[in-house]
Amino acid sequence: MAKSGIPESLRSALERLAAVDRLLVALDFDGVVSPIAERAEQARPLPETAAAVAELAGLPRTWTAFVSGRSLESLVEVASPDRRTLLIGSHGAEVRLDGEERPLALDPDQRRALEALHATFMEVSSEAPGTWVEEKPAGRVLHTRQADTEVGAAAVVAARDKLAARTDVFLKDGKQVLEGSVVHATKGEGLAFLRQVTEADAILFAGDDVTDEDGFLALKNDDVGIKVGDGDTAAGHRVGAPEDIADSMTLLARLRRAHLTSKMST
Ligand SMILES: [Mg+2]
Repeated sequence: MAKSGIPESLRSALERLAAVDRLLVALDFDGVVSPIAERAEQARPLPETAAAVAELAGLPRTWTAFVSGRSLESLVEVASPDRRTLLIGSHGAEVRLDGEERPLALDPDQRRALEALHATFMEVSSEAPGTWVEEKPAGRVLHTRQADTEVGAAAVVAARDKLAARTDVFLKDGKQVLEGSVVHATKGEGLAFLRQVTEADAILFAGDDVTDEDGFLALKNDDVGIKVGDGDTAAGHRVGAPEDIADSMTLLARLRRAHLTSKMST
């Protein structure tokens, strides 16, 4: 297990980050803002993280965002974000800025691909007890967490096989899920979009899952990437658990406020 607490190198990185002109703090939700919950609808932000994010969102030249694989609807339900927090859902396929959702419009080809994806996942799931299929606006997710390990693994293989010939369905492995999307979107594209709309000079991005690696790969020199938990990563920093993100966000909010206050008085 990774050690708990804020590593010294991350502490220095947060100090540098607090002093940039325009700052974007973008966090994955599950496993970062919220501990992983047994049932997806039970996930909630750690109170310290929610408080720090709200404080950062209220500071000048500072933006906050949740960048999640969840559908926007599900993300809003569990995260209860304030209107200032920018939201990326479905790994980048859905966007909410300033509390306004940009509608996701699928073309006829994408709608047909979604129907085929739905039918395939339902067929596989019906033969794999304990698995279930989540519906998202641009995709479907085959969940295997509650199935026997072997049953779940075989279901993922079967679903991949059946969809192998389709070039209009994009598959992603996550933690005990196989996700299919008919819109090609990654967290890296989501972050690039947020960088553009906020004109941020630096981004902090934290994530815990395989799909967050696209986000870490989209980071640049002055950005800070934080991987939560074990596993290979392209992130420059690592912490052990969501509680360490709570500590890091609390520290960043304090440093940012101090920096902005000192700047105003000079
Ligand atoms: Mg996550």
